[in-house]
Amino acid sequence: MIRLGLAGYPLQHSLSPALHGAALQACGLDGAYSLYPIQAGDTEALGRLIECIRTGELNGLNVTIPHKQRVMKFLDGLTPAAHAIGAVNTVHLKDGRVLGDNTDAPGFLTDLRAFFPNPRSAIVLGAGGAARAVTYVLWSIGCKVAVAARRVQQARELAGRFAGVKPMELSLQAMRDASAGLIVNTTPVGTFPAVENRPWPDGLPFPENAAIYDLIYNPSETALLKDARAAGLRAISGQGMLVEQAALAFELWTGHRVGREVLIDSIRQVAG
Ligand code: NAP
Repeated sequence: MIRLGLAGYPLQHSLSPALHGAALQACGLDGAYSLYPIQAGDTEALGRLIECIRTGELNGLNVTIPHKQRVMKFLDGLTPAAHAIGAVNTVHLKDGRVLGDNTDAPGFLTDLRAFFPNPRSAIVLGAGGAARAVTYVLWSIGCKVAVAARRVQQARELAGRFAGVKPMELSLQAMRDASAGLIVNTTPVGTFPAVENRPWPDGLPFPENAAIYDLIYNPSETALLKDARAAGLRAISGQGMLVEQAALAFELWTGHRVGREVLIDSIRQVAG
């Protein structure tokens, strides 16, 4: 019996149970993926869950908001990617050590490569946990990156981790002259149920010929993506990244590689 799960709060809209349930079934494995709603202040509960990985009661754990950073103090080590990003989304036991990894970064890179193989310049909207993974990836492949956040101090803190990354305020005024080949939304603005909201400043035209990558996966077509397509730009949702990061975590935990189409089908059934 393979026991997997997700720690975070809130969790009721998570697609991970559908993804990993489908993966277990497709690989013919007997197992379960459970939700562990743990509020921000309850670090003791988080620590107890990590102990379950150490004892083998749990075979793998995903970690999401608000624990991607605070989980690190319970771990024996981090992969180089998790260390550089400063956030963990996947925990597993290797050679008796509880390790933290970040599959958001390779998940984003794999999906990006299919959409836009070699971006030269990008603007990342938002400066939270997902922005760190995205910025790390873009920076690693030699793309010139600007991070735009409504709290410019948060953008400065993120940019400070990666040499040459430029912070800016996410506003019409500050971004008037900004140009880039790729725009990546890492804010939750436009997520279900507030689907009419947009992270791109009102009244600001998109840079000419830019491509838009929205990390949001529910809905699969955000207002930002609709605007971009209406302006004749290429645009893609975060469903591919979601599938990739889940498949990579599943492989770490079980050693099984799962077909991406199985995972795509599972979220289409839930999220449309
Ligand atoms: P997070 O750590 O809370 O960061 C969110 C960022 O968005 C912060 O910079 C936040 O700024 C900013 N933000 C929030 N509301 C805003 C608003 N109204 N206007 C402008 N900026 C705003 O969250 P996260 O973990 O990075 O996740 C962000 C999004 O990415 C979520 O929708 C998540 O589902 C998605 N995601 C998708 C995948 C995937 O596989 N497709 C993977 C990871 C995350 P403040 O701090 O000022 O609020």
